[in-house]
Amino acid sequence: MRNCSVCDGPVQNELRQVWISGLVGTDVLPFLVNACSAACVAALPEPYPGYVQTPHTGGPDIVQPAPRRATSALVL
Ligand SMILES: [Zn+2]
Repeated sequence: MRNCSVCDGPVQNELRQVWISGLVGTDVLPFLVNACSAACVAALPEPYPGYVQTPHTGGPDIVQPAPRRATSALVL
């Protein structure tokens, strides 16, 4: 039995697994979230800027936005 990553309640028939990007220290890492309902998916925190902006289920169709150029690269 899993618990919901959002409300910590038991996940029963309606397990929803989604990936979100979150900041850990200085790195942005994907997190697999187990959510018990659409409401809990909707309650997830905002994904880190520059990454996929909605929770998603992963897979080959997901395209992350191009990495932002470092500010220093714009100084000529
Ligand atoms: Zn929940």
